[in-house]
Amino acid sequence: MSTSARAAVVVDAAGAVEIRSYDVPDPGPGEFVLKLELCGVCGTDAHIYQGRLASIAFPALLGHEIVGTLAALGEGVTADHAGRPVSVGDRVGVFPALSCGRCYQCQVRHRPGNCPRRSPSYGFKSPVTDPPHLTGGFAEYLHASKPGTVFYRTDLPAETAVLQEPMSVALHGVERGSVGVGSTVLVQGVGAIGLMAVVAARAAGAHRVVAVGAPDARLELAAALGADATVSIQELTDVAERRRAIFDALGAPGADCVVGASGSPHAFMEAVGLVADGGVLAELGNFTDRGTVPFNPFSDLLKRDITIAGVYGAGPDMLRRYHQALLILERGGWPYDRVVSHRVPLERVGEALTALGSGSPLDGRDIVKLAIDPAA
Ligand SMILES: [Zn+2]
Ligand SMILES: [Zn+2]
Repeated sequence: MSTSARAAVVVDAAGAVEIRSYDVPDPGPGEFVLKLELCGVCGTDAHIYQGRLASIAFPALLGHEIVGTLAALGEGVTADHAGRPVSVGDRVGVFPALSCGRCYQCQVRHRPGNCPRRSPSYGFKSPVTDPPHLTGGFAEYLHASKPGTVFYRTDLPAETAVLQEPMSVALHGVERGSVGVGSTVLVQGVGAIGLMAVVAARAAGAHRVVAVGAPDARLELAAALGADATVSIQELTDVAERRRAIFDALGAPGADCVVGASGSPHAFMEAVGLVADGGVLAELGNFTDRGTVPFNPFSDLLKRDITIAGVYGAGPDMLRRYHQALLILERGGWPYDRVVSHRVPLERVGEALTALGSGSPLDGRDIVKLAIDPAA
């Protein structure tokens, strides 16, 4: 294509983020080029920016929660992964992971993340100085340079479509937590993934969903997205007091499933204490190493017959969950458009990554979900 694209490149860990320009290539067979509309900023991006993911070499072009319109289609690209015809101008969400789908890990073990033939996902290929350059979402264009890249066409607004990736993680959590018709669910933590877990629990048939976290604006959003009751950790700072309030809200001494989406080892131990006997803690908040915590195998685990399930990202079967996430979002019924709290231009990617990494507000407002908008 006879155009160039601006890209926000992280020059070094915790270093400068500068705008560089790359030519947008013509897509080869099986490839396509996307004009980016919105790319969600994920906790993982902030983590990479702090230099805590050894597989990333700088300078790097990050961004894997990718939504845009098809700008050019390579030979043979005529339909999305669901088989629906596509043409230039259609809005699509791109599935970032690139496993082979055929090997022992992919087919027999259902562990595409362990696929030995896996290419780095979009937003994780580095350094950006090696071609193809435009493989991350914090840019004006994305070059889907791997033939067979999975993408889904959607008519959803971009700020809703961008929730497909976080929703797929929440779905993994709810499934690991064995949530079904009639379950009671406690969602601990009301960041973007916790909010999506409220919706996912409802979609799975939960009978009662309670969300615990802060600040109030996020708790209100959790209620708008389907939580029956909310408990504020700012109002109830004492753990025992909070536990009583949560049990009152659940109407039972513990939840069948606690989705741990808050991300500290102490919150993890609090979550263990909120699981009903025989229930499950699906822990997805401690996504990075935040340290250890004392644990009593007898009284915390065996005596109560509980299960602790680790939930790492969208997990195995991530493609199925990605597709399911889109079905849930397209079904509508909840104010998804309220989840993206900030749309910021490419020039502010560094600032956005810093704010997200430190949990501080941006533009004087608490961050729920940040998205990069190259047209902003
Ligand atoms: Zn992510
Ligand atoms: Zn494979």
